[in-house]
Amino acid sequence: MNDQRKRSDARSARAFEEAKQVIPGGVNSPVRAFKSVGLTPLYMHKGSGSHVFDIDGNEFIDYIGSWGPLIMGHAHPEVVEAIKRTAELGTSFGAPTELETEMAKLVIERIPSIELVRMVSSGTEATMSALRLARGYTGRSKILKFEGCYHGHADSLLIKAGSGVATLGLPDSPGVPESVAVNTITVPYNDLDSVRMAFEHFGEDIAAVIVEPVAGNMGVVLPLPGFLEGLREITASYGSLLIFDEVMTGFRVGLNSAQGRFGITPDLTCLGKVIGGGLPVGAYGGKREIMERIAPSGPIYQAGTLSGNPLAMAAGYATLKLLGAPGVYEELERKSARLEAGFLQNARELGVPMTINRIASMVCPFFTDQQVTNYETAKQSDLNKFNRYFGSLLDYGVSIPPSQFEGMFVSAAHSDDDIEATIEAHYQALKQL
Ligand code: PLP
Repeated sequence: MNDQRKRSDARSARAFEEAKQVIPGGVNSPVRAFKSVGLTPLYMHKGSGSHVFDIDGNEFIDYIGSWGPLIMGHAHPEVVEAIKRTAELGTSFGAPTELETEMAKLVIERIPSIELVRMVSSGTEATMSALRLARGYTGRSKILKFEGCYHGHADSLLIKAGSGVATLGLPDSPGVPESVAVNTITVPYNDLDSVRMAFEHFGEDIAAVIVEPVAGNMGVVLPLPGFLEGLREITASYGSLLIFDEVMTGFRVGLNSAQGRFGITPDLTCLGKVIGGGLPVGAYGGKREIMERIAPSGPIYQAGTLSGNPLAMAAGYATLKLLGAPGVYEELERKSARLEAGFLQNARELGVPMTINRIASMVCPFFTDQQVTNYETAKQSDLNKFNRYFGSLLDYGVSIPPSQFEGMFVSAAHSDDDIEATIEAHYQALKQL
């Protein structure tokens, strides 16, 4: 059992003050600043397996996992070895390497809707490039996205977005021109009637529907039965493309990703996080006929100095290979199911209203007894309770994302002892609410 600790954060606090002098808000990505939870961000020293260690010497069981990529845990020896081996041969060439082809083959083998795949350096680049491709391919301007879904920070996607935008309660970002925003239609997640209505009005102008097949940026929200099927049907009947943003779910919810789990074939898929094994990678892929419209085989331009970077390919390839071993996803499922059951049992015992949404190793406790099926219902969660819960968990040695609108990620490195210690910490944190 974890003991509540007198957790010092003096060094982290100093480091944060210093950073704020030279980095906007002290961080290179907003949610890291812990602003919504009102605490000092932890400055990390190292990670090993399921644990992280901050610069004040505190140790935590970690469920952030770099916001999804580290499905095999921190500093997995085979991933580290692959990076080292590759780095010794040079870190970047700006010329093709065979590793890129190997990586592409592996992605294509596991995600059957992908016939050609292009590597980029982030999830944002993947979705931004997929949209340009969809617009170039269809000759249409509009896109449809869902409230609370986050697809990175490209202008046309930063509209009613989840993740940090939701966490910080920001309105649609200043700097996104009106002329761009008018081409983005947003409707509630899991609401096919609204999608149909949007298509009745604008169907001939809609290049693509982009969707997280399981939403992970308004907390975890699963697609209701028939939702993804409905999107497939509507987009096909209007000649629009269906883009699955699997940046978070890709190789996270199963070896064939969310589309494999739900048996849906999108036209394009965006990937990131897990396929980089902790290094900066994104990718987009899909039907050959569409992907061949990208330069240099086609006229739609997209490029990157570090795209297909050898170190990133090595880390991603090693991670994907590890995930292919028998039983990895079954174990993730078993441990994540135990975590969910333990959390629910605690909540029942202590009479705390709680709904847990989970798919595979994405787990999200909401402080509400209502079902959470879209952004509106996610916002019903008691955020004050979440913030206090978050702080208590840290004091009991458990680190989860500092936002109600993000899920916890279980990794292959979490042991049964980690899971039981987390359930106990959860009990104590609920008791203190
Ligand atoms: N799409 C989804 C579903 C994401 O969760 C994210 C990041 O959290 C992105 C796109 C953007 O990826 P990146 O942060 O690598 O640019």
